[in-house]
Amino acid sequence: MTHLHGKAALVTGSTSGIGLGVARKLAAQGVDLMLNGFGDASYITDLCGSLSDEFGVRVDHNGADMSKPEQIEAMVAATEAEFGRLDILVNNAGIQHVSPVESFPVERWDAVIAINLSAVFHGTRAALPGMKTRGWGRIINIASVHGMVASVNKAAYVAAKHGVIGLTKVVALETAESPITCNAICPGWVLTPLVQKQIDALAASKGVSVEEAGRELLSEKQPSKSFVTPEQLGDLAVFLCSDAAGNMRGAALTMDGGWTAQ
Ligand code: NAD
Repeated sequence: MTHLHGKAALVTGSTSGIGLGVARKLAAQGVDLMLNGFGDASYITDLCGSLSDEFGVRVDHNGADMSKPEQIEAMVAATEAEFGRLDILVNNAGIQHVSPVESFPVERWDAVIAINLSAVFHGTRAALPGMKTRGWGRIINIASVHGMVASVNKAAYVAAKHGVIGLTKVVALETAESPITCNAICPGWVLTPLVQKQIDALAASKGVSVEEAGRELLSEKQPSKSFVTPEQLGDLAVFLCSDAAGNMRGAALTMDGGWTAQ
């Protein structure tokens, strides 16, 4: 039994990639899970069942669209109603769109800002009162190296992720005298569907294989030349839930293969 046993977490965008990696690591600590994210119904039912069987925790899924504030609020309420608590909020859902500023579709700008930034505000706003009442909480925002440095053609994503780091600091200050902490994790390249799309596009534009495009993507930015894994990020999230991290407040922690050390 770990000290997290019996706590409840909501991990947004956890049907895939980093969110799923974080959810698995929390479940391994005995944390009940509310999953969120898209996917077909049978995939999601199987995912909930397999996590529950593997880790002996309660697992459910809420299909809230993270671009819709009222659905986010209702998801937080549903999590508290189902588990009687919401102790750990991992704001992870995110999308990408790659385009130069002058041809960046306005609708894609709005969607990236809504899902990658505003959703973090809406989820935090809804979850904080319950955490305050129960006297413990962890808010973990999955930002990005793009919350610290920029890359071309990612205006909305870079703006949103810089915003997430700013919001993380404000929430950390507003909760600084309480047992609630708020921190951000800033991954470099992680091989998830979000990045696979960028690798496929690079392969197509350069006429090279997908493997070669993956190597090129890494070597441009990430000195380790290896992908960060969802498991490594999940372990960092578990650490942020520990007592040892109880006075880490407003930090933006990189796990980026050296990307931002350059
Ligand atoms: P992913 O595409 O594998 O997963 C994204 C998840 O978000 C999925 O579960 C998807 O269903 C969900 N989602 C997307 N739009 C949603 C919406 N409107 N409502 C509800 N759920 C929605 O992506 P990922 O790479 O695992 O990214 C997760 C987070 O990590 C994102 O915030 C991303 O910006 C961040 N990140 C990723 C990388 C990387 O290299 N993959 C690097 C740094 C930061």
